[in-house]
Amino acid sequence: MEMYNFSSAVLETIWEPVLFLDANYIVRNVNKAFVDIFKLEISETINKLLFEIDKGHWNTKEIKKLLDNIKIRNKFVKNHILYHKYHNENKILSISGRKIKIHGQRGEFIILAIEDITKTKKNEEMLEESKEQFELALETYPATFLIYDDKRRIHYANAFASKITGLPIEKMIGKTDEDIFDKKIVKQYLPMLKKAYKTKKQQAGEIYTKLKFGEYSAIINFIPVLSNDHIKYMFSVTHDISEIKKLEHKKDEFLKVASHELRTPVTSIKMYAQILERKLTDLNTNNSYILNQMMRQIDNVVNLINDLLDMSRIESGKISLVKDRFDLSLLISKTARDLQQSSENHKITINGKAGIIIKADKVKIEQVVNNLLTNAIKYSPKGGKIIVSFKKTKKNIIVGIEDNGIGIPPAKQELIFDKYYKIDYGKVIGNTSSFGLGLFISKEIIKKHGGKIWAESKKGKGSTFYFTLPL
Ligand code: ADP
Repeated sequence: MEMYNFSSAVLETIWEPVLFLDANYIVRNVNKAFVDIFKLEISETINKLLFEIDKGHWNTKEIKKLLDNIKIRNKFVKNHILYHKYHNENKILSISGRKIKIHGQRGEFIILAIEDITKTKKNEEMLEESKEQFELALETYPATFLIYDDKRRIHYANAFASKITGLPIEKMIGKTDEDIFDKKIVKQYLPMLKKAYKTKKQQAGEIYTKLKFGEYSAIINFIPVLSNDHIKYMFSVTHDISEIKKLEHKKDEFLKVASHELRTPVTSIKMYAQILERKLTDLNTNNSYILNQMMRQIDNVVNLINDLLDMSRIESGKISLVKDRFDLSLLISKTARDLQQSSENHKITINGKAGIIIKADKVKIEQVVNNLLTNAIKYSPKGGKIIVSFKKTKKNIIVGIEDNGIGIPPAKQELIFDKYYKIDYGKVIGNTSSFGLGLFISKEIIKKHGGKIWAESKKGKGSTFYFTLPL
């Protein structure tokens, strides 16, 4: 009985369920963990045949085979996974066991250590499943997805990447971009990728290049994955947008041609209307009012066409500046005076010292001031004060155009500078014909001069548009 005392002491210190069997598979000892986990009494186990205890739950072919392997074939079983139906519950057990001889005891014994790994295994399976789903998503993702290691070597590439390079995935692993992608394309984004490694910050941008098969445009993103502040992996996602760009180009071309074609007949109509107006005024009839209205509408059409033309020039990069020295304060006063005549409801005041000489494209700057002032009038339908102020700082000239109109919600203050962006103010503003291009064009003009343009506004309290021009 010495064996029991010694082994019992050892057994109780082990938190995994452990069983001692003799060569006839009679349970000679169990620890507390075993009876606790399988919800048995010690007396229901000791000196009972293993296959009979616990309502015969251990009486399975697989367990018999496992024990025979240990007993007859002398096997040392390690972490044998056993799917075990146990009291209507599917358990996953990891079993280790071996044959032992005990000093002073006749015959051989078998020791079995059982670990219930149901939960761990389920978690592993779930993890594996979500990994598979994630990989499947990446595989079918219609964009190049790469994972680099800390040395910029490709660690993972999806099927799309293999389609682009024409290389099987395994041939890409361990390589750098220079080894497998078109050199012209790599040249475009390599600085961005290097910057992502250096700054450990996400980098994104658009790339464009002309290739043998045509033009290639893409949006590219580099996302570093850090561990202890070191780059562990770098993710990269590249969306090919060449087709979208082609369509955009076609649309821009169409707009350019359409606006050119429209301008010629509209210009002649305006000319004939002017002649008619003069004749009717000479005849002193009241009908000149009708013609006046007609001319205003023609002016609207001309402005719309000009906006479209400007836009297509910007898009094709054909906007160029003709710079001259001129007095900005005079230009502002003149534009304000002209617009004041068209709106009696508004009072335009000017705030700033005269005599600010700058070198810029006069026609285009006038276009910007005109656009901002027209907007100030248009978007303050109840009339009121409009203040144009300007001042010189060390490096810049800053111009502000303040109205007391409907204002711009904060979330839209940047968006209004986008192409075709218009806020729907409903009936407050009424029907004005516009494409929502004025601010986009103004922004491009100011940007081209090296300045900035932005809006500040509190909803219902009017807006102020600012722009700067470098001196
Ligand atoms: P639009 O020709 O429609 O005025 P813009 O590009 O000049 O086009 O302006 C874009 C949008 O910005 C306008 O539709 C309007 O919603 C808003 N906006 C511009 N200026 C003002 C202003 N002073 N007050 C309120 N909203 C403005």
